[in-house]
Amino acid sequence: MTATNDGAIRTRFAPSPTGDLHVGTAHTALFNWLFTRHHRGTVVLRIEDTDRKRLVERSLGGIPEALAWLGIDWDEGPEVGGPYGPYFQSERKEIYLEYAERLIAGGHAYYCFCSPERLARVREERANLPTKYDRHCRDLSPAAIAAARAAGITPTVRFKMPLEGQVTFTDAIRGEITFDVRNLEDAILIKSDGYALYHFANVIDDKLMAISHILRGEDWIPSAPLHLLLYRAFGWEMPLIAHTQLLLGPDRKKLSKRHGATSIQEFRDNGILPEALVNYLAIIGWSWDDKTEIFSRDELIAKFDLDRVKPSSAIFDHQKLEWMNGHYINHLLTLDGLTARALPFLAGAGLFPRGAPAPGTPEYDYLTSVLALEKERIKRLTEIPEAVAYFFSDEIAYTQDVLVSKKQKLTPEIALAALPRARETLAAGDVADEADTEARLTALAGELGLKRGQLFMLIRAALTGRTATPGLFALMRVLGQERCLARLAAAESWLREHRQAAAD
Ligand code: GLU
Repeated sequence: MTATNDGAIRTRFAPSPTGDLHVGTAHTALFNWLFTRHHRGTVVLRIEDTDRKRLVERSLGGIPEALAWLGIDWDEGPEVGGPYGPYFQSERKEIYLEYAERLIAGGHAYYCFCSPERLARVREERANLPTKYDRHCRDLSPAAIAAARAAGITPTVRFKMPLEGQVTFTDAIRGEITFDVRNLEDAILIKSDGYALYHFANVIDDKLMAISHILRGEDWIPSAPLHLLLYRAFGWEMPLIAHTQLLLGPDRKKLSKRHGATSIQEFRDNGILPEALVNYLAIIGWSWDDKTEIFSRDELIAKFDLDRVKPSSAIFDHQKLEWMNGHYINHLLTLDGLTARALPFLAGAGLFPRGAPAPGTPEYDYLTSVLALEKERIKRLTEIPEAVAYFFSDEIAYTQDVLVSKKQKLTPEIALAALPRARETLAAGDVADEADTEARLTALAGELGLKRGQLFMLIRAALTGRTATPGLFALMRVLGQERCLARLAAAESWLREHRQAAAD
């Protein structure tokens, strides 16, 4: 599927609004988008909402929103409009009916008046046969049709599947695929409620919307012969077609909730960056040189084409995504970028109740210097509120185990002697100068007869209530002179009060 006529390429993503946007659907949408953007074609978003029973109202807005969050945009479709609308299939009912009439008139489709009860019975009788409908209404006489109509039965419309032969189509990724038509049903095209079935609406719309390339999940391969035969019945040429691989979990089973998040909204809420998710999805089933893994969006657009899409199954590994997300946070996001991404999560955790700090304010500068300390350590945005909490609250929840670490061979006596001396030492300088602070505290450790590590761990615990933090002197610089002195004093009084307990 190499494109020679750049600009004439028109692709579509055609999600059914039956729930949140699944990562597998997003994978297919991304491949369509990259392929189309690479060839400077037109992306169409079409909402396939003919199945009214399975419709989930919130997904009508949620799916376009999730695509937009991923940075997958469309040139025609909901919100943007376009010359081939409407882009909701539920608004195209009359069009499908008109085309169904055309097929009937041409002898390629027929009215079926069979009741649901009859169909159920026949299905049971034919349980061992490849097709479940016995084609009862395929050749009804005009008189029989008129009688059924007069009896008030609303028919469905069925496709007149050829009775024998084979149908072969060329999949641009997988090569030739052949089906025996004897195994194919006289499929329903229009239901008795007047709504078109997916297959029919999909074919009509791909034709009327001038789609040139169909790129969709491999679960649609069994439907492709019907689609091809519909195109033939109308005398139309089928667009180029390719089926991408479905995402599997590391156990090679269909990707599901058992493996972790599956909807794009969940990934967002779990602190995954859209650029990391897009990068990761792009390298599942496509590769540039079998080794490069990190690609910017522009690089993907420049490099992506279908000749490097592999038809084998594609493993989605949450751990790998997490690694990639960490890589983006640690190495590729700017500090301002990270700050902007972190803010909703910090606000969600109750920080900044009076609104997010604006760039240029001291609060914003404090936040960015706090995030600078954590930037290299975090893998998901959701980790940030917990990681930085002690920078934003002076209420440190001390515990004796942390403050008077047995591992460091500290005792309450040692700590109570050291803490006021550390405070004096710090008060004589300024924690803004990291090297100077380190030199002065190293000297103090010598004076107190402590190892550097012992004193530093005590100070770290006094300032943060934790044993694992970013580098001590950088964290003191960010906390600032005043907070450092106040927290050393707070730790000292806490320890005086809890001394007995700590000594036990
Ligand atoms: N509405 C179908 C789906 O959501 C579209 C399949 C296709 O791309 O043709 O899976």
